Parts: sequence; C-alpha cells; structure tokens
Amino acid sequence: MHIDNHGDVIAACRFCFMCRHLDPVGNVTFREADTPRGRALILDRVRMAQERLANPDFIDTMYRSALSGANRQHCVSHYDETGLVLAARRDIVAAGLAPEPVKALAHELVRATFAIEGRGSSLYFGDHPRLYPECATLSGGDPGVALEALGFAGEAAEVLGRLRGVIAASGSGTLVVGEPSSYVFLKKRLGGIAVVHCSEYLLSTAPEAGPARRAVYLESDFLRNYADGMDAPRRLLRRHGYELAPFGTNAEESHAVGEGAVVFDALQPELCKRLCRRIRELADNPAADLFITPSRHAKAALRKYHPEMRVVSLEEAVTQERSHK
Ligand code: SF4
Repeated sequence: MHIDNHGDVIAACRFCFMCRHLDPVGNVTFREADTPRGRALILDRVRMAQERLANPDFIDTMYRSALSGANRQHCVSHYDETGLVLAARRDIVAAGLAPEPVKALAHELVRATFAIEGRGSSLYFGDHPRLYPECATLSGGDPGVALEALGFAGEAAEVLGRLRGVIAASGSGTLVVGEPSSYVFLKKRLGGIAVVHCSEYLLSTAPEAGPARRAVYLESDFLRNYADGMDAPRRLLRRHGYELAPFGTNAEESHAVGEGAVVFDALQPELCKRLCRRIRELADNPAADLFITPSRHAKAALRKYHPEMRVVSLEEAVTQERSHK
C-alpha cells in the first residue's frame, strides 16, 4: 500500500496534536478525525489490517481533507501529512473503493484536452490571455493536478502526457501559468521547459509604485505551502500600490477555502461553504474590503457563497481587467 511509504508520518502524527489549529476542515467541524492526528490514527489501523480501508467512514474522512499543506509547512519536523492523505486516496482508488462522486469527477477530468492559439516565444496557460499579447495561449482543462489529488495518479499522468505533447509541438521554451495548483504541478513535472508563475512574469513589467489602496491578500495553499512560500504575488501587489492588510488570527492558517484539494467545492460543497463562512467571519470589513486571491478555485467559491464580498484574482488586481461580476 502507498501509505506504507509514510510510516514515519503515521508514527509521528497519530499521537501529536500540535498542529490541530491549522487544519481548515477541523477548524469548522471540530472533529478530531478532521485533523492530522485523526487521519494518522485511522491509517495506522488500516496499516495493521488492510481490509479496514473499505470502511466508508475512513474513506469519507480522507476525501474531506482540504490538503492545504499548512500542517506540514508549520510542523517543526515537516512531517508530510498531506502526502499521507494523498497516498491513502491512491490506495482507495487502487482497491476500487473510490466513492461514486469521486469516480464521476475523475471520469470528467480525464477527458481534458489542450490546444494552442496564436503565436509567441512563450506560452500562457490561465484565465487572462489578453494580459500576455506576446505569448501564445495554451487552453484546456486541468493538467492532472486534480486527478492526482483525487488519487488517480495513472490518469493524471495520462492527461499530463497529452499536455506535454501539445507543448512540445509548439516549440516554446517558457510556460507562464496563472493557476497556482497547475504551476506547482507543472513546474515539478515538465522537464526542458521553464515554468513560471504569472506573478513572477508580471513583476518584470510592474510599475515602481501605484496609488495606495488597501486590500486583503488571501494566500494560496499551493504557493505558500507547496512552493516554499513564494512571495512574488505580494511583491507584485505592493508594486501596484496595494497595502496588504493582515488577515485572520495568525499567519499560518490556510485561508484558501479548499484550494489544496483542487476540486473541493465540487466534492464537498457543504464543507467548502463553511470554509468560506469562516473567511467572512475573520474579515474586519467583509462588505468593503477588496480580497485578492491567485486561485481561481478560491475566487469561485468565495463569490459563490458570499457574493457580497469583493473578490478578484491576482491578475485582475494588477490590471484594468477588474471584473467584479
Ligand atoms: S504534522 Fe507535525 S505537528 Fe502536525 S500532527 Fe503531524 S507531527 Fe504533529
């Protein structure tokens, strides 16, 4: 089983409660099962008797995790509890035990296709191609990160292979990526091509200073906890004049409403709604403040559950494309 490769994590987390305050789902459900310790205790039982993996409550618990990476990032020993949950999901899928909604999502995601429009020395993969007139546009579905998060590693590799072929045929040597989950996933897996986050790319043409305006930047799980705390988005926003107000009760908690699980709202809408409600409750002035997120998943969820909040993407925030629809 894949969880056997994470025996150190199980041994460390099953009796540790140090990071319980950083599990986004645990913070809204108050269930011990929705913390790293709870999940490690469950998987310790599974490790001792594999047939326990079929327990529907165990399976449900693994798919409730928001995979924020905050616990791993702030664990003093960086135990990979996120990797443990991903391994458990792979074991669930391999055993044919994936819940029907998970299988339906995977069935949809595996059909992703990709295409390139226009010409340019670089490619742009994201929601705002008009911001990158010098780049050809790569369009298509999820590159495989969502499938991987659901436990479908083979299918994720299949989609990634399709994407790799399209990129290779273009001859481009640089890929600018907007979505943090795709950026982290592709940077690790696309050899021979420079994968750059849109914030890094836009920094090269950012003004020295813009008119001061207050905003709240909701950190990305992927950029902070999966990419060593990339600070290019904050530097970019400051260059555009944003004064970024502190948010929440600490600088470690995830405020990305399930971004780490990529398709969290599709799979766990009630939990995602509760994560969004927590953001609204933590906000000083939710009706007046401008909230900026680099994640299309976080933006979509917050707009869906709290349309009264002004939430824009990072790319919208630094351009005139500020659609508040
Ligand atoms: S990730 Fe670290 S802090 Fe959290 S439960 Fe595991 S060992 Fe404890």
